[in-house]
Amino acid sequence: MATYAVTLIAGDGIGPEVTEATRRVLEATGIGFGWDHQEAGSDTLEKHGSLLPEATLESIRRNAIGLKGPITTPIGTGFRSVNVGLRHELGLYANLRPGKTIPGVQSTFDDIDLVIVRENMEDLYAGIEFDTGTDEARTVIEALGVVQTKAISPEAAIGIKVITPEGSRRIVRFAFEYARANGRRLVTAVHKANIMKFTDGLFLHVAQEVAAEYPDIAFNDRIVDNMCMQLMQKPDQYDVMVMPNLYGDIVSDLVAGMVGGLGVAPGGNIGDGVAVFEPIHGSAPTHAGKNEANPTAMILSGALMLRHLGERAAAEAVEAAVAAVIAEGAAVTYDLRADRDPAKAAGTTGMADAIIAKLG
Ligand code: NAD
Repeated sequence: MATYAVTLIAGDGIGPEVTEATRRVLEATGIGFGWDHQEAGSDTLEKHGSLLPEATLESIRRNAIGLKGPITTPIGTGFRSVNVGLRHELGLYANLRPGKTIPGVQSTFDDIDLVIVRENMEDLYAGIEFDTGTDEARTVIEALGVVQTKAISPEAAIGIKVITPEGSRRIVRFAFEYARANGRRLVTAVHKANIMKFTDGLFLHVAQEVAAEYPDIAFNDRIVDNMCMQLMQKPDQYDVMVMPNLYGDIVSDLVAGMVGGLGVAPGGNIGDGVAVFEPIHGSAPTHAGKNEANPTAMILSGALMLRHLGERAAAEAVEAAVAAVIAEGAAVTYDLRADRDPAKAAGTTGMADAIIAKLG
């Protein structure tokens, strides 16, 4: 049997607990893993002067695959988020966020099976922003005055939305390739091209071109506000949705909410020849160190990683074991219980034990 070298980043807050639970579950599948433990986050900032040490990046590049717990973003230190840094340094341009109903998880919708493909590197997240009152902002405002006639307050803060043909093409291709590989029938491009005619217009135009290369997969497009309404009214009419960064951030949390919240929502960040899997949720500091965080989202991120490695049977086994434990409802964390009573709930380790018992 294959042994996979995987960079493992425990993260902080609840990260170490849900990562350890996930490591144990993945090993219980019988697949061999050579875990390459690496660090990132505020502890490494104190030790190495960097939130994202070069050794961590090198390890992921070498192994081509990483599994990562959530990391707290320090506020007001001038350091950008490790998560954004990782995506940019490794070219992880696709953020894959499946949203699938797990029976037994409380949610307002049943039978949801949607996949959000979010562009991860462009759009308003390109990091090109100028603060109010700065020389840089005023220089940009003056330059804009040369190419357009609308008055902009000299005190305005300015952010730049960047959409490229190549960035749009690769993310839409990713969505179609994912749809094809996973037996999906429809790809929907989500945009606001009626208002942002050049940026989102370009994204839509490229999406239409790429769609023509995949005649076996249906294609349509929706304006993002209408998309949100339709997801509430008729989610069964959608399948894979692909969109620029900001809409993807928002719509994927909406879909996570439709299937029961952050505790059960997995994710993956994928580039050419390299991928890092992580839950959507953050480091939930109030739950840290109490053995009470829900490990499901991180374990399902591990299952996504198994699928990415081509270990489909093991991925399905993990998903089935998680589903069985949640459906039984006896060994689940407090957030999955109707009474949300921590005294009656399983801890992070107890829920992982129950999942492992199903795999045995
Ligand atoms: P969060 O996801 O940490 O928490 C939001 C809410 O969900 C909280 O009530 C929390 O208790 C609950 N929650 C989240 N995951 C849970 C779990 N597994 N089990 C039980 N409850 C859970 O979001 P936040 O509070 O906005 O962010 C906290 C920190 O995490 C911030 O510093 C933020 O920057 C960071 N963050 C990191 C990532 C990442 O590493 N990819 C993603 C999002 C946020």
